[in-house]
Amino acid sequence: MKSIALQQFDRATADTAADGLRRDFVRTALAGYYNVRGATQAMYADYPAARDTAAEIKWRALENLGDYLVEFERKLLSRGVHVHWAADAESARNYVLAVLKRRGARLVVKSKTMTSEEIHLNEAMERAGYAVVESDLGELIVQLNHEPPYHFVFPSMHLKRGEIKSIFDRSIGRLDSDDPQALTMAARRELRMKYLQADVGISGANFGIAELGAIAITENEGNSRLTCAMPKVHIALMGIEKIIPRLADLALLQPMLATCGTGQLLTCYNSLYTAPRRAGEPDGPEEMHVVLLDNRRTHILADPQLRDSLRCIRCGACLNVCPIFKNIGGHSYGVTYQGPIGAVIEPNLRDIGKFGHLSYASSLCGACTETCPVKIDLHHHLLRNRAAAARAAKDPAERWLMQAFGFVMRRPWLLSWIGKVMRLFDRVAAPLQGTRVDPFAAWRSSRTLPKTPRHTFKDWWKTRQ
Ligand code: SF4
Repeated sequence: MKSIALQQFDRATADTAADGLRRDFVRTALAGYYNVRGATQAMYADYPAARDTAAEIKWRALENLGDYLVEFERKLLSRGVHVHWAADAESARNYVLAVLKRRGARLVVKSKTMTSEEIHLNEAMERAGYAVVESDLGELIVQLNHEPPYHFVFPSMHLKRGEIKSIFDRSIGRLDSDDPQALTMAARRELRMKYLQADVGISGANFGIAELGAIAITENEGNSRLTCAMPKVHIALMGIEKIIPRLADLALLQPMLATCGTGQLLTCYNSLYTAPRRAGEPDGPEEMHVVLLDNRRTHILADPQLRDSLRCIRCGACLNVCPIFKNIGGHSYGVTYQGPIGAVIEPNLRDIGKFGHLSYASSLCGACTETCPVKIDLHHHLLRNRAAAARAAKDPAERWLMQAFGFVMRRPWLLSWIGKVMRLFDRVAAPLQGTRVDPFAAWRSSRTLPKTPRHTFKDWWKTRQ
């Protein structure tokens, strides 16, 4: 019996795979990314060495995560920042809702944070009666279109500008043009007042710097700065794996994130947040909170084989190069983190029995591993997840299939006999292709059945003496 998640995945992938125009559009958008990223990588004195060092920094952080987190918390507390350790999504949501209630908030403005998507914070805040506005342009577009982000770096990359204009027409007023600049200015006008009216700003964190007790946010629109600085309360959500040891580590990690994320050498705005407004300072929030989210990250950390997946800096490069992502699109995954890294961590953050199918959304070509700036061995993790999923599955079909495969492969005479039957079957079934009695019609609707060769390799070899 297929899990609900797998049934949704099957339906969504079939729909997306059938939408050739959308797939072309996404592929064209990514082609631009490859060119820019390649040029930027070429500007590094030694890009492979930069990858080694980035991986080493993140690895060191994970190996001493407990110590770094405590140091990080101590520094934040010393400057009056409230720190909440959230064991799971519910704890994180409840903490945020309690802050909103205590402050009598009505409007919340948010900058891009996938951690909030992971804990379904928007839905919880809206259910509790708060108005929530996304301030990142891509996030605002998908929020207005009532859909989740398509890609965790480019949330609305699947939408054409005409579609974005229609979304804006429906939700923030009619526009004269679908020119990208006009669309951006419309969003800007809409958002400016929200920053001024918002009671609370919620952000994510790209890195948490242990030695400084600071969160680092990297962005291109300046919306995060306004979100963190203008409302009276700032809440930052951060997965515990975002910790890095030293401020100096940013000198490499920020360019690596920009290069692999968007193809830039550095994003336009890079900010550090260390405390609420201090006496004598003209601006900044009155209160600052940092929510440190576990949500089963410690489960991944405890597994020595899986641990390196926590090195991820969420650049999205593995999605951009993945042939499967390009064809099934981000929404098909049905989880927060899409693409290869999503297929690695989501089953382990959730339930490998229910989400193990994501590990099969890969051709195992290794392009993800090759591109990852922190050298996560993604495609081998996908293989391990498959094994774990097969072990966890209640449905024994896969085990039986593999046992049958092993049985046949150990008996060459049987393999040869099956080959003969298949060739015979192929000859009988070939004329039925495209007719109503084609036994493979459903299978062929999205694939091309390979043609069985007339002779086996062994037969051909014999004729060659
Ligand atoms: S796994 Fe690597 S390539 Fe993929 S998002 Fe994370 S850091 Fe980027």
